[in-house]
Formats: sequence, C-alpha cells, structure tokens
Amino acid sequence: MKIIKIFAAALITAALVSGTAFCGTNPITEKTYSPKAINHFPDTKSGRKVLIGDFHCHTEWGHGGLTVPDRIMEAWAWGFDYLAITEHGNISGAVATTPADSKWLPKDAKSYTGVAGVEKGDMPRQPMESNRLAIPIAKKYGLLYFCGVESGIAGKEHTVAFNISKDYNSDAYDHWLAEDPGQGNAVWYRDRFKQFKDMGAFLIYPHPHYGYAREQMQWSVDHGLVRGIEVMNGSNSTKAIAATGATEGEAGYRWYEAFDYALEHNLGIYANTDAHGERGATFTLVLAKEKTKESVMEACNELRTVGYFDNMLWGRVRDVDDIISSCVEVEKIKLDSALTMVRISNLSPMTMTMSVLGRDIELPPYNNVLVKNETGRDSFVITYKNVWTSSKTKLKKRY
Ligand SMILES: [Zn+2]
Ligand SMILES: [Zn+2]
Repeated sequence: MKIIKIFAAALITAALVSGTAFCGTNPITEKTYSPKAINHFPDTKSGRKVLIGDFHCHTEWGHGGLTVPDRIMEAWAWGFDYLAITEHGNISGAVATTPADSKWLPKDAKSYTGVAGVEKGDMPRQPMESNRLAIPIAKKYGLLYFCGVESGIAGKEHTVAFNISKDYNSDAYDHWLAEDPGQGNAVWYRDRFKQFKDMGAFLIYPHPHYGYAREQMQWSVDHGLVRGIEVMNGSNSTKAIAATGATEGEAGYRWYEAFDYALEHNLGIYANTDAHGERGATFTLVLAKEKTKESVMEACNELRTVGYFDNMLWGRVRDVDDIISSCVEVEKIKLDSALTMVRISNLSPMTMTMSVLGRDIELPPYNNVLVKNETGRDSFVITYKNVWTSSKTKLKKRY
C-alpha cells in the first residue's frame, strides 16, 4: 500500500526532464511523465522468455535529468523485466539531494559522499553511488537490476559494462581509460576490461561511431572482453547512419554496419536508449530461460539478445526466428485444389509488416488477416519486412 501511494504521487508530480539520449549535454525541458506500457512477447518456440529492458541509461548522478527512483519507476511503468543504470565514471555536478531520493537511500547512506545537502556541481562522483541507490528500489519494483558503468578510452570509444560487482569502486582519476599503458593516472583500457570481465561483467560497445573498428576495440573484441555492440542508441532512430558518420550530441541512431560487425565478430546485438532524459520505445530483448539475473547473463553470454526499436527486430536468424515462430500462427484451410484460405495471426505486441502470397500486409498486434492462396501450391514463404537478420536481409519463413 505504501508503495502504491508512492507510485501514484510520483506519477502525478514527477516533473522529469527531457533531453538528448546521447552522451553529451542535454537541453533541459520540463515535461509531464507519461509512461507507455508495452505488452510482452509470448515465450519463444524454444521455450525462452523474451525479457525487455535497457542495459544503458543515465540518471542525475550521471549527466541525466531523472533521479534514480524516477528512472526505476519509469522502467517499471514500461513493463521492464530488467534494467542497468550506467553512469559515466568521474561524475561532477551530479547530486541526489531531493527528498524523493533521500527517502530511498540505503541504510549506510551516510558513507556516501555528498548525498545530503550538497549542491549540484560540488564534487566528483563515481557511478556506483547510483547503483547502490538503485538496488533496493529496483527490488521493490520487481526489476532484475544490474549494476553498470559507462567508461571507455578518453575522448574516443566508450564501453558499457553491466553486471559489475556492487563493490566495485572507480575513482575520479580512472574513469576515462588510457589508450596506452602509463598515461598519467588513467588505467590502461586492457587492464580495466579484464578487471570487469573477472568480476563477471558483460562489456558492450555503445554508439559505435566513436572509434569504430579502431585497433583498441578490435583487440578487445578479439580477446573476448567486449562481447556486444549497440545497433541502436537512443529512443527513436531518426537517422540511419554509417558507423563513422554520426555527430556527437545527436540522438537516435541505428548502425547497419554495427549489425554486420556483430554477426562477423560473434557479438551480442543490443538496442539501448542511452537515455539521459525520459526514455522511448527502444529495448534489448533477452531470450532467457527464466526471469532471473543468472538466466539473463547466460543468455547474454550465448549472444541471445535482439534489438527492438522503431517497430523492428534486429537479430540473428536463430533468435528472431525463435521469437517469430511463437508470435505468428498460420492456419490453412484447403477449399479445393486451387484455393486455400490462410489465416495469419499476430500474437505479438508489434505490428508485423510482411510480404505473403504476392501481398504486402501490415498486421497490427493481436490481430489476424485472411489471405487467399490461389497458387495451387500448399507451401509459401512469408517475408517479415520489419525483422532484420543483417543490414541487408529480412527474416523469411516457409509455411
Ligand atoms: Zn557514451
Ligand atoms: Zn551513455
């Protein structure tokens, strides 16, 4: 009851901040929070759960506009199964001093520097503070929570690590990593990535226009340290771009090159919001055996992740086929030797755009359509035009 009250109050009063969903500064505009829940996909043909969530987003402890409780409440309102908050390391100008935040502080909050009574901009932070705040709140909301951090090579490519240890502490000097060993106080990227891996974290390469295919990232991929890549960064992919063509500060990019790179280099496929302000409908789908953290990590390690954004799925044939096989049902009624009626049912929360029997069909969620098969052949192919299996190919299934 107490929790419900807090939700209601927060929904009415939370004035959240909208900004770019990119790793830059965010313009501040206050707006009312209006969550859009999405329904879940059915379990896959192979019996996996399709868990939704986001492995890369920020709060006011990073450069974002949302408090930690708001970010978690938002994820809950969207129906998320899991969440990782991934602040940049050396955070200055971030503080959680609002009454809404302080009531959520863990019991040992006094040991966190500057939590109470400190003005914005006062002191450097480190990303574990938002993680420590998030853990007990996410638990209340029933979310699987993964501690995360966004780091990377100074001025160049970033990396997002999730499932880092809650006891991990970065310090103010090693947030941005050194490209070569012995660069001032900064930790060499190879040492930090190995440290992350040793603590059971999973590293992905976000918004890959930074340092795309540079030797450092290639080394990390070749050595199994970086094991995933974002094919989408942002809430709406307003622009489709070449990997090298992005401009810092612009939100919403899909990377066709990164998709092919993932397939060639055995990387997991991720679509994350990188939300600094309010999030939009971008999700990484995790095909997990169970809704547990262990199962999510197992799925990530088996590369069973699929990007879901702009009413599209981007993933390996193995995984999107597994999802679609349980989302679309095809029933045939043979009326005579030349005519079969086909009913195609969409059991998923997304609109299916398909080519079938010479027609283009947009089939809304939880809807069905009847199509005549006058070909005289029993078998036919559906091309799923919004289910991508590489930068140039779509899922085709024979029925
Ligand atoms: Zn970034
Ligand atoms: Zn980010």
